[in-house]
Amino acid sequence: MTMQSNIADNLQKIQQQLGKTQLIAVSKTHPVSTLEEAYEAGCRVFGENKVQEMVQKYEALPKDIQWHLIGHLQTNKVKYIAPFVHLIHSVDSLKLLQEINKQGLKNQRVINCLLQIHIAQEETKFGFSFEEAEALLSPTLPTDLPAVKIVGCMGMATNTNDAAQVRQEFAALRHFFLEQKARLGATFSELSMGMSQDYAIAIAEGSTMVRIGSAIFGVRS
Ligand SMILES: *Cc1c(COP(=O)(O)O)cnc(C)c1O
Repeated sequence: MTMQSNIADNLQKIQQQLGKTQLIAVSKTHPVSTLEEAYEAGCRVFGENKVQEMVQKYEALPKDIQWHLIGHLQTNKVKYIAPFVHLIHSVDSLKLLQEINKQGLKNQRVINCLLQIHIAQEETKFGFSFEEAEALLSPTLPTDLPAVKIVGCMGMATNTNDAAQVRQEFAALRHFFLEQKARLGATFSELSMGMSQDYAIAIAEGSTMVRIGSAIFGVRS
């Protein structure tokens, strides 16, 4: 079997399980030629975790692709993606949000963002606590930061085979998401959760976006 048919087959299998959930094809570390194969198979939404890599791929690939930044973002790198990024999933500080606003103003566009919430029982992952995120999501935030639009939240479950734990973590994030949506209104509409290992659980727990890499492209070297 060729690489090409693998990617197309994998995409098709995943798409059958999605329902209304949107697929972000996480193409980090893979070369442009691999993304082209996914593009040929119909993929128009890609997720990257490194700024420089995303910029290079944006420049090399067709302009009808939506680019999602899913990894930790340093404030000094926001300027490189501000002209074209579709959604930043990984906002984890007010300082970063302020810089995204500044770069949005410079580029005369409103940049869509998700607040990354720390839901895993792991020390290493970035993100706000529920309390911190709720405090940040004040009703005056859209006025204070007019070039930023916070459209929801993102979370990563603990990397474990314990499906019950993963489900509990996703359920907690969904609960938070629905509470904030009720408070803030319908623009708070996206719940980004689920990766190759746990996307079925995430979809069952109400995810609106799954970020899937290895289940489409194979293991990263
Ligand atoms: C790499 C990555 C993914 C995709 O991981 P897979 O296990 O390959 O599906 C999803 N979300 C984030 C934040 C990532 O860094």
